[in-house]
Amino acid sequence: MPTLDTIKSIAGILQKAGKIDEYKQILEWWEKILEMQTKIDGLAAENKTLKESLKWNDKLEFRNNTYWNGIEGPYCSACFDDKKKPIRMTTKSRNHFAECPVCKTRVDMGGNDDSYEIAAQKYINGELT
Ligand SMILES: [Zn+2]
Repeated sequence: MPTLDTIKSIAGILQKAGKIDEYKQILEWWEKILEMQTKIDGLAAENKTLKESLKWNDKLEFRNNTYWNGIEGPYCSACFDDKKKPIRMTTKSRNHFAECPVCKTRVDMGGNDDSYEIAAQKYINGELT
């Protein structure tokens, strides 16, 4: 299959030779190839995002109004459910409130200061995966 540079070179030769119909046909094909390449690039990017999302779907568990990967977390449910991006939330008093640095969603995780340690112990005991 010829490269885009080869097609461009052939188009230039046809133009110089006065073969205008053939030149226009080559340009049309060139535009179609560029459109297809743009679609392929977009699909490749979407595929990468979906693969990344699937990887995280298997790992994340929803609890305390946020997502967790074992004892790692919390991750923003708004960002993950909408854009499939695992965004780590910031917490001020461990298991009470968490805020997403991207979408600014703020959640009450409903826990107390001991619940993080309880969850960590459950994770160590194999009760959480
Ligand atoms: Zn968010």
